Amino acid sequence: MTSGRRAFVLGGGVAGMTAAFGLSDRGFAVELLESRKQCGGRAFSSAAPKTQRRLDNGYHIMLGCYRGMQTLLRRLGTEGDFQQDRSLTMAYRFGPERTASLRLSRLPVPLAMPWALLRLGIGFGARLRAFRGMASVMWGADKTWTFAEWLRRRGQLGEPDQVMWRPLCRAVMNVEPEDASAAEFLAALREAFLGSAASAAFWLPKKPWGELLGDPALRAFENEGIKLRTGARVTELKFEGDRVVAIVLGDEVIEVGADDTVVSAMPWFALRKVLGDHEALTKAFGTLRSSPIVTAYFTMVNQTPPDEGPVVALVGGQPFHFLLRTPGDPTAQFALLSGGNRSFDGKSVAEITKIAKQQLQRYYGSACTDDDAEVVIRKEQHATFVADPASAVLRPTPGRLPNGPSNLLVCGDWTATGLPATLEGATRSAEKLLASLPN
Ligand SMILES: Cc1cc2nc3c(=O)[nH]c(=O)nc-3n(C[C@H](O)[C@H](O)[C@H](O)COP(=O)(O)OP(=O)(O)OC[C@H]3O[C@@H](n4cnc5c(N)ncnc54)[C@H](O)[C@@H]3O)c2cc1C
Repeated sequence: MTSGRRAFVLGGGVAGMTAAFGLSDRGFAVELLESRKQCGGRAFSSAAPKTQRRLDNGYHIMLGCYRGMQTLLRRLGTEGDFQQDRSLTMAYRFGPERTASLRLSRLPVPLAMPWALLRLGIGFGARLRAFRGMASVMWGADKTWTFAEWLRRRGQLGEPDQVMWRPLCRAVMNVEPEDASAAEFLAALREAFLGSAASAAFWLPKKPWGELLGDPALRAFENEGIKLRTGARVTELKFEGDRVVAIVLGDEVIEVGADDTVVSAMPWFALRKVLGDHEALTKAFGTLRSSPIVTAYFTMVNQTPPDEGPVVALVGGQPFHFLLRTPGDPTAQFALLSGGNRSFDGKSVAEITKIAKQQLQRYYGSACTDDDAEVVIRKEQHATFVADPASAVLRPTPGRLPNGPSNLLVCGDWTATGLPATLEGATRSAEKLLASLPN
């Protein structure tokens, strides 16, 4: 039953979807306006040109500690479509001849980690230093430090940095340690690594994200009476006094009534555009920087790298950092992923494909030369905002913007969630916004 109050949610990523469900639960008549053809936001899928295989915008992996995401997936009925590992396992490849792996037992992580680190295939001194570093994650870091600064101060340069910290930093922060906020990264690690083995373990999607979010959202929203409009791009928000009075979609204007609420779940750069005339509101978050992700999806024809598990860190790898596999996919299908590397800016698909093939050969040897391999490139320029030390003061608390209109609330991974740009940060931003609503 709705209370007669309306809520417009702008943007159907995981933050917008969480907000839409929560507002509906609180009695609002909800209308969600999404510019794409489907919900899911940055976790969307589209067909590969030749094969029509549905490929993600880029790999998205969850961790067991993603409780906000698990709640959303449960609501969509897709929580079971993941390989839910019981503890963390990750492979490392240094080149054609050398590999290592980190495998936690099912003991709580603080107990399992020392043993796993001592078995990691790096020098003995480096393992001891890595162990000391892991123990000092607990103490956090000065808010002004980059993670590179933390590595230096904690004696983690060399092998611990290359093998353990840098891959983790790229995976979680989507930037190199030189650009990452140490405090934010360590907070994310504490959440994953200070609890049970399951909370640090990967949740690996067994299907494209379009089938986990976008497709099921259609039915779930319909069942709950949430009105979804796709292909609805918001171009402007009109204000009068301290209220939003209209949402503009090109030629169409939706009037916002006195009791109506507008929730923006758009990314920072999109919200900045629709608030273009209100510089005072966008001044801080408008300066957040973006970091890209490039994924090269391979289907090998003649040769294939060995299956070393779903997540393989390519140690020292540039520009690709990980080789990733979807559970259940044939061995010939995998992806190389590059996070936060700007060397692809301005490069063509053909150039990126060549670079990806060369790197595969560097890490797996000439046995992985396959001229017939099909490679599909997905490039997302605004994959995440850069969570550097300066970003903390630029991210507004989910809810009303400082001095913003009283009926405009904001959420999204880029708001102040205490987490870097992740699916989980996005859902938690919406939960925080919902918690701030008056009953
Ligand atoms: C390639 C890639 C890989 C990633 N890998 C991981 C990972 O492994 N693990 C992880 O936790 N996170 C990962 N992330 C980050 C994660 O995708 C984001 O943090 C999260 O999806 C953000 O959700 P959101 O709802 O805040 O924003 P978004 O997902 O960006 O949703 C915003 C929505 O607003 C819509 N929109 C924008 N402008 C308008 C407009 N004018 N009018 C109407 N609608 C509009 C957009 O179309 C979009 O649907 C990855 C991101 C990318 C791009």
